Amino acid sequence: MLKKTAIEKISQLAAVLMEKGTLLAPVKEVAGHNFAEINDPQKVDLNFYNTIISPKGAFFPPKEDFIKYKIGKTITEAEQIKVDSKPVFLFGVRPCDVKSFSIMDIHFNAAGIIDPYWSQRRKATTIFGYAYDLNQPVDAADFYNSLGIYAADPEGSDIFMVKKDKDLLLKGITPKGEELLAQLNTLVDAGKDDEKYYEETLKKGKEYKTRFLCIDQDVIAKKLEAVFNNNDFWTKVSSACLSCGACTFVCPNCYCFDICDDTIFGKGTRRRVWDACMFTDFTLEASGHNPRTQVYQRLRQKINHKYSYHVKKYGVISCVGCGRCTRSCPVNIDIYSIVEEALKL
Ligand code: SF4
Ligand code: SF4
Repeated sequence: MLKKTAIEKISQLAAVLMEKGTLLAPVKEVAGHNFAEINDPQKVDLNFYNTIISPKGAFFPPKEDFIKYKIGKTITEAEQIKVDSKPVFLFGVRPCDVKSFSIMDIHFNAAGIIDPYWSQRRKATTIFGYAYDLNQPVDAADFYNSLGIYAADPEGSDIFMVKKDKDLLLKGITPKGEELLAQLNTLVDAGKDDEKYYEETLKKGKEYKTRFLCIDQDVIAKKLEAVFNNNDFWTKVSSACLSCGACTFVCPNCYCFDICDDTIFGKGTRRRVWDACMFTDFTLEASGHNPRTQVYQRLRQKINHKYSYHVKKYGVISCVGCGRCTRSCPVNIDIYSIVEEALKL
């Protein structure tokens, strides 16, 4: 089923989705676009390349309270904070970010203990994927083609959207997406020329546009293992790093978190907050020992985790080539170049 709407009428579609549940969509902020919960349908803005921060926060918020408690003299009363069960519509997600969700599922939804917060949100969410505009140049930092992801790849989306001049074409990919599309009465049926355009865009999207490096995951995993002790290499590539953690916070595939208690006057909250392996005290132990005091050790850990350990343990690279870490790094450290350099050693 292919449907369409005029892009200038996107606020009408947003309003219908807001009646059905929570709408998360790109909005324009001072520094660029980011996903946010929509309270005003006029705020949805599809005129963006990609968001500064990835949409992983839809399932794994930067800060999340789990338990509220009251410390009594003899007993502590505690109450679990439940996840809102309303349907969620995650609107306008680029194909590389859609792919990142399936990699994150390994940790939160498949391996070991199922994370109920991630898992419930995943079930409640309908993903509206959104093809990159093939008529616009790609950002120089992107390299998702190197990881087998394409600009107009509908895999993983429930509904996949393609922009056609002043219209937005929407196609149901999963039964969940098809069912929702049939209920959205602000959309009209697309014509034969729209169908042709949609299919051609998907086909054209398979052409390489981003930086491209032939990355065989087993080769890079072994190579990084072999150069682990090459301190000259790791010191050189990390020499400008400030350990600011920006690269990990914007990344759709970084998932480290800390659990902390915030207690005052006997009342407390247990919460999860994003953490980053690039921070100096990430590995600081209670004894005072820190196995990663040097910047090069932390950057080496990040690259090895994504391109070596993750491959060996889970069979997939934990990076989708979205380019955010490179765009956000204040000193232009580029993960693609590091992988490229390592392969040459
Ligand atoms: S490591 Fe960089 S390029 Fe890879 S997914 Fe994370 S932010 Fe995107
Ligand atoms: S964003 Fe750049 S400077 Fe900051 S921790 Fe990451 S690599 Fe280092």
